[in-house]
Amino acid sequence: MVIGGFQKLTLIDYPGKLATTVFTSGCSFRCPFCHNPELVVGTTNFASSQNNSEKEFFEFLKKRKDKLQGVCITGGEPTIQLDIIEFIKKVKRLGFLIKLDTNGSRSDVLKKIIDLKLVDYIAMDIKNQPKNYLKTVGIAETQNFASVLDRVKLSVDLIMNSRIPYEFRTTVVPGIHTQKDFLEIAKWIKGARVYWLQKYEETKILDQNLKKKTKNKTIDLEKIKEKIEKNFTQMGIR
Ligand code: SF4
Repeated sequence: MVIGGFQKLTLIDYPGKLATTVFTSGCSFRCPFCHNPELVVGTTNFASSQNNSEKEFFEFLKKRKDKLQGVCITGGEPTIQLDIIEFIKKVKRLGFLIKLDTNGSRSDVLKKIIDLKLVDYIAMDIKNQPKNYLKTVGIAETQNFASVLDRVKLSVDLIMNSRIPYEFRTTVVPGIHTQKDFLEIAKWIKGARVYWLQKYEETKILDQNLKKKTKNKTIDLEKIKEKIEKNFTQMGIR
């Protein structure tokens, strides 16, 4: 595992649990609005290694076994790590509940994780409506692999058909998203248990050019929620 760091205590990342969050390095997407650019760029070697940060992380977990309930595994994109499954098993053996954050680009890995019942909660980003997906995540489609969008759609289906508690969430970026995008997203993931709209904050972002696009733009999250909330069991803004 290539670990970018970990946050020892979080009261918000894992719904209802006291948890720690571990950040994996490297991502399959290049969302211009990404708030963790240091985890996305500059990491090309995803080779599995028992590096120091992993050792340090497990030493920490062992000490906090009785105080923490869960571990959030986030990124970057955790499912691109070669030894993600072994890593999750190792955390699970220590008795922690596991929440996995994913962008859904590796539906094959996600399927294994779900089939093996390795995680207790999944949070998946829905970056945009299907038509605008690749543009929004900053990558070009390749011909040699199953479409990225197909894999994202498959991940949505896998999650919705699993018995694992989950949420979908979209960071709403003025200048990238429009109200119409959310009508399409709502059609796509209709029936989902939980859908969150997340407010975009222009602090640290991957692509500084995005600031030109977002300048003086606003988007009304309450209005979007009003229009689409009937599609979900629970919907909120955060
Ligand atoms: S926002 Fe998430 S999916 Fe997008 S580049 Fe950043 S870590 Fe990757």
